[in-house]
Amino acid sequence: MAAFVAAFSALHTRCSRHSGAIASTTPCARADTRFPGARPVWRRAHDAFSTRFLPRTSITTRARYPQYFRPGSPPLRSALETPASSPTLPSELQKLNDSAEPIDVIDAALARYGTDCAIAFSGAEDVLVIEYAARTGRPFRVFALDTGRLHAETYRFYDRVEKHYHIRIEYCFPESEAVERLVQAKGLFSFYTDGHGECCGIRKVAPLRKKLSTLRAWITGQRRDQSPGTRAAVPLVQMDSTFAGRDGQGTLVKFNPMADVSSKEVWDTIRVLEVPYNELHERGYVSLGCEPCTKPIQPGQHEREGRWWWEEQTKKECGLHAGNLAGRVDVK
Ligand code: SF4
Repeated sequence: MAAFVAAFSALHTRCSRHSGAIASTTPCARADTRFPGARPVWRRAHDAFSTRFLPRTSITTRARYPQYFRPGSPPLRSALETPASSPTLPSELQKLNDSAEPIDVIDAALARYGTDCAIAFSGAEDVLVIEYAARTGRPFRVFALDTGRLHAETYRFYDRVEKHYHIRIEYCFPESEAVERLVQAKGLFSFYTDGHGECCGIRKVAPLRKKLSTLRAWITGQRRDQSPGTRAAVPLVQMDSTFAGRDGQGTLVKFNPMADVSSKEVWDTIRVLEVPYNELHERGYVSLGCEPCTKPIQPGQHEREGRWWWEEQTKKECGLHAGNLAGRVDVK
């Protein structure tokens, strides 16, 4: 039986409807067109297979990627390759993508959206975004995701940043019931065996989604050189195709003012401007995240190698910038 399933699975991938990992709970309607000359027995076998075995795939896939299975939503593969909506940037913002300094991008964001815009601060070298925002002279808001698993040094750094810039960071916390359910069911370190998707989904993505639903624009510290695999094409300004803003899906603008700044340039600027930084950077940490999922790197290693080191390189996004993974099936 196992051999039959394996053999038929291989053949079944030729079926255009099912090859995209989207399963059907009914026999494949395209079997007739896909196999026009097929004998009835072949067609019946195909239909029996897709009815009996693929619903299991369907349940797993739907549980894992529920966002792509709203009624009427497109199949998974095309949903990943094509944003749910294709909004366009206002032309004056689009112009920023030609070439703009980080401070100009931040100034344009704050000028246009004011306090409907907020800076997402991770507690790492993206503090430079706050420095630039302060230098625009405009009022600005900063929020941070407190996953409950950050280094003590990062919490102390948040406190220093608040005092240095005379701001109050808006902390976003995960839903306590969701955290409890996860930890009670799987323990405190399930991400080492299950992958980081579930924990990041609860502790990071859900709070971020909630926060962004109150905004019209957000500013990130993403840089292209942070992750050649997932961030190489990050633009300075884009419509956020992953999260909905206050005005609904397809309306949220995402500013990435540091996109084409290198790590060296960031650190040169931090030193010259005497910007406060997280003390973990002095101990070999480069990319900073939660304590259990971040480690210092060795000379010559890419900064992303210090994050989720037990997982594949191509999965190293926590979902905050899931749009960077468009075109990949393994969205986290
Ligand atoms: S980085 Fe690690 S601890 Fe933090 S939310 Fe993700 S999986 Fe959980």
